[in-house]
Amino acid sequence: LMVGCSGAAQNGAPKRFFSNNTATEHKIDSLLKLMTLDEKIGQLNQLTGDGEVTGPITLAVSYQDAIRKGQVGSMLNVNGAAYTLKIQKIAVEESRLGIPLIFGYDVIHGYKTIFPVPLGDAASFDLESIEKGARVAAIEAAASGQHWTFAPMVDIARDPRWGRVMEGAGEDTYYGSLVAAARVKGFQGNNLGDGTTILACAKHFVAYGAAMSGRDYNTVDISERTLYEVYLPPFKAALDAGVATFMSSFNELNGVPVTGNKEMIHDLLKQKWGFDGFVVSDWASIMEMLPHGIAANQYEASEMAMNAGIDMDMEAHFYTAELPKLLKDGKITEAQINESVKRILRLKYKLGLFEDPYRYCDTAREKKELLNPRYLDIARDAARKSMVLLKNDNVLPISKSVKTIAVIGPMADNQDDLIGTWSARGEAKDVVSMLTGIKDKMPNSSVIYAKGCEISGDSKAGFAQALAAARRADVVVVAVGEAAMMSGEALSRAYLDLPGVQRDLVLALNELHKPMVVVVMNGRPLTLEWMDQQVPSILEAWLPGTMGGPAIADVLFGDYNPSGKLPMTFPRSTGQIPLFYNHKNTGRPRIDSVRYTSKYIDSPNTPLYPFGYGLSYTTFNYSNFRINRPTMGMKDTLTVTVNVKNTGKYDGTEIVQLYIRDMVGSVTRPVKELKGIRKVALRAGEDAVVVFKLTASDLAFYNRNMEFKAEYGDFKVFIGSSSAEVQELGFRLAQ
Ligand code: BGC
Repeated sequence: LMVGCSGAAQNGAPKRFFSNNTATEHKIDSLLKLMTLDEKIGQLNQLTGDGEVTGPITLAVSYQDAIRKGQVGSMLNVNGAAYTLKIQKIAVEESRLGIPLIFGYDVIHGYKTIFPVPLGDAASFDLESIEKGARVAAIEAAASGQHWTFAPMVDIARDPRWGRVMEGAGEDTYYGSLVAAARVKGFQGNNLGDGTTILACAKHFVAYGAAMSGRDYNTVDISERTLYEVYLPPFKAALDAGVATFMSSFNELNGVPVTGNKEMIHDLLKQKWGFDGFVVSDWASIMEMLPHGIAANQYEASEMAMNAGIDMDMEAHFYTAELPKLLKDGKITEAQINESVKRILRLKYKLGLFEDPYRYCDTAREKKELLNPRYLDIARDAARKSMVLLKNDNVLPISKSVKTIAVIGPMADNQDDLIGTWSARGEAKDVVSMLTGIKDKMPNSSVIYAKGCEISGDSKAGFAQALAAARRADVVVVAVGEAAMMSGEALSRAYLDLPGVQRDLVLALNELHKPMVVVVMNGRPLTLEWMDQQVPSILEAWLPGTMGGPAIADVLFGDYNPSGKLPMTFPRSTGQIPLFYNHKNTGRPRIDSVRYTSKYIDSPNTPLYPFGYGLSYTTFNYSNFRINRPTMGMKDTLTVTVNVKNTGKYDGTEIVQLYIRDMVGSVTRPVKELKGIRKVALRAGEDAVVVFKLTASDLAFYNRNMEFKAEYGDFKVFIGSSSAEVQELGFRLAQ
């Protein structure tokens, strides 16, 4: 009956279909021949589980039966080595063909050891560190039953009202593409079959971050050019890095929900780009085509999704219900179903699940890996690297001989919020708070804590105690920000100031005119102009994860000199949004004294803190900025060089940034575009020569005919410490 199969499983042993050296494609074809239509459609069906369960299985009996009948290909939200083992056993030992399930989970910024939220992690501008974080997350997840993460989110985000900006790498396409590749490599490692790696998933394909008004799930209506130039490249970068799966987004794109969008998924992703992994829908997004108003019923929605190229239905249950009818009616073909099944089986083989379906369900390995001290150290380092010094009027670093420190604010003695949303199996009890981090670092100082107020709510009852604590202290550290549940999915905000009375608390403390630093913890850019104008020092710490507290203490007391830079613009007000550095010029660039120029009558055009901005305890001087030629041809390389010197008292690290501008194009071009980053560590007094290379492909864009090409003419190249603080030189691209 079966090629090399041991027959129906008895005595609990997993079935083996083939000897190990049979070519995978042959195994897949042979297996496919054994499958009934029902079993094939089963592989396309993903159901949700019930988390981590100790003791007997509590998964809905109907779901258990479906697995037994071979009607489920994948589960999400089944956690832990012990529980995944139990569920996997049903599939492998009680179903007719014993095809293993693939377990997927949102491992977004760590699994048990939680890293800074992805936006914060991206602020490190350190690709090695970002990759390492994903690697650690994969090792922990793979030890705990998971095969597949729904990450990285590579959506470009230009609107901080959108709560999901927290899950990505910010506003820039070039940098977002580098981060996308680093995260994919981290999750998937060098060898998908080695048991410590998990499949990555580039999501949400595509343009989900362009939701109108920053309201999650909202309509996306953008030009083809913007789609290709801004939103698609990070997905292509993930693909080029070998990403195993893609997830289709909830949003409509120019009139067609992406989950039913054949042009985007089948034609572009699969045909043109040649993606050979599988595409999963987002949660019930096949069903959402009904409220979108593009399908009248689940039959039509399934037809659209299947023909668009969605291989796996996450929790809509539509494929199971409708694909047999659609096939009978000739709306889809069996070849299409086979193709999707093969894409899924191929990855199950790659993961080694047919050889050993239980290799990821090893409780001893799980115990050893979760919250391993080595991973906590890596998370602490990632958190320090993510921090961005926004302002510093001589308060930081705080001297270690300080006698009395007041630690104030609702984020100070806080574990719950520091891990953010999408914190997988991270637990607040494992988080080291900022207060604990400071106490541990400063055992000989007196640390006085007062909460002051809640994150939300309007009570100022705690202010008096906070002020009293601050009065007694030599230095005041105030921790404010957003609760975990204020950024992430379905957590858009219309106001971007600190919630509740936190602003009043900060201002009241500031009245004492003590040396004071505000540590801001949040999942998105906030509008902090009032703070910048009044408070001496501000540290952006994001939602820093399990080791957030010690990492913050490292920075506050000078054991770590901050080097993070903003991956997303901080506006002055919500009225300026969307505000991003790589915007176009207008025909009437702003001139303050001229009325009819492009500006607001009540606000500057400029942001509060630009993209790429971040200070250090030391200072860096840029000099001798030069290029090796004034003119380059299409095949030439332009070498761009600058000397960077650490001119301050502290060792430090600078993120040197290179931007370009095409001065005149067949279509208008952004005023600046990031094309290079270099992370340079310099001891006090030390200097370095920093070199970048540009080729014509760095100058290319989608021209008037939507061809990706560089155009002859004048360019500028900029080098600097942020998108706003740059020096510039001109050069020509010529025949
Ligand atoms: C989110 C995805 C996530 C999925 C599974 C959806 O609501 O949009 O990002 O991967 O749920 O949890």
